[in-house]
Amino acid sequence: MRALEIEVFSCRTDNYGVLVHDPETDLTATIDAPEEGPILEAAARRGWKITHIFTTHHHIDHVEANLALKEKFGCEIIGPVNEALAIPGLDKTMADGDEFHFGEHLVRVIETPGHTAGHICYHFPDDKILFAADTLFALGCGRLFERTAADMWHSLQKLSVLPDETAIYFGHEYTLSNARFAVTIDPDNERLKARAEQIEADRAQGKFTIPTMMGLEKETNPFLRAADPAIRRNLVMESKTNEEVFTEIRKRKDNF
Ligand code: ZN
Ligand code: FE
Repeated sequence: MRALEIEVFSCRTDNYGVLVHDPETDLTATIDAPEEGPILEAAARRGWKITHIFTTHHHIDHVEANLALKEKFGCEIIGPVNEALAIPGLDKTMADGDEFHFGEHLVRVIETPGHTAGHICYHFPDDKILFAADTLFALGCGRLFERTAADMWHSLQKLSVLPDETAIYFGHEYTLSNARFAVTIDPDNERLKARAEQIEADRAQGKFTIPTMMGLEKETNPFLRAADPAIRRNLVMESKTNEEVFTEIRKRKDNF
């Protein structure tokens, strides 16, 4: 099986667009459809035709180009069953644990409620790739619009059991602000400090921070580290539950 090819580009203000191409079957999926123009340009740049849209959640910055792309390419739109009515042009719904194939590549759906009630992530286990959209960012996690912090903590736990070598593609370039926040929560984490410095340098040059890796996130992303003794000590929350610690970290980020 030949490796998937991935094209990453920026759209809107801070969204990432991601195209996934299977060279064997010529299938091309766009992960969400944030903005028509940049998606068309990226596809043309690579000579790919959009055959699928993998929708993660209903927010406008993830579905705005659904109908335009469908009209142009006749592509199939797949999305979360729990947000089916809010997703334009949806053809096929997916729930937690559902599996399908993209060419010969296995795709597993992971429901991650928190940012929205029905948000799903697309995991390609054999390719070790996760499309996490607005659930898990480099050094961050999505804001809680439709579900509780406890729900989001549980969702992030489901992602964090994936192998360390999983490449994570996320929905927004928030990495610099996430890094500046993360060091306030986990100030003695040497790996985080080094990473934050690298991000400052990379973003000053406009470099993309996507993808990240699960192993790196587990070592440096405070939203995955509510159980870490140093973080708990820093927050003076040694006796609290992981959910409570996560809730406090999320609240602090909202006010950062
Ligand atoms: Zn969103
Ligand atoms: Fe978004």
